Amino acid sequence: MELMNVSGGQAARISAVILLLVTAALVALKGEAWWWTERAPDTPDSATYWYCHQCREGFALTAAEYEKRVFQYLPKGDPMRQDGLVRPELRVKCPRCSAGAVSARRCLTDNEIFDPAETGGVCPKCPK
Ligand SMILES: [Zn+2]
Ligand SMILES: [Zn+2]
Repeated sequence: MELMNVSGGQAARISAVILLLVTAALVALKGEAWWWTERAPDTPDSATYWYCHQCREGFALTAAEYEKRVFQYLPKGDPMRQDGLVRPELRVKCPRCSAGAVSARRCLTDNEIFDPAETGGVCPKCPK
């Protein structure tokens, strides 16, 4: 009788562990699925802005397009820097000339897309 009780308790403990594992697996799976579908939305509101210095033109990419075009660009060492450290930058392939376009900003007034590093952060079209 005593033995029965022990094994019964063990079985309950084991099934509790299994339940926990199944729940954890389900949660992980759901999280994965969510991550998968949410990863690269192809919608205008997911757009990021880029500026190509070759074409001298800005453009927008949806998150899905961005994922297809993004690459890591290693700038040449800055001679002014003593440590010689080079930080990789994220760039996207320009849809027109395939050069690396840099992260840009869009003006809320006239929708002009520009490279803030070049213009000091202000829109080049807006009156100063
Ligand atoms: Zn270009
Ligand atoms: Zn502007």
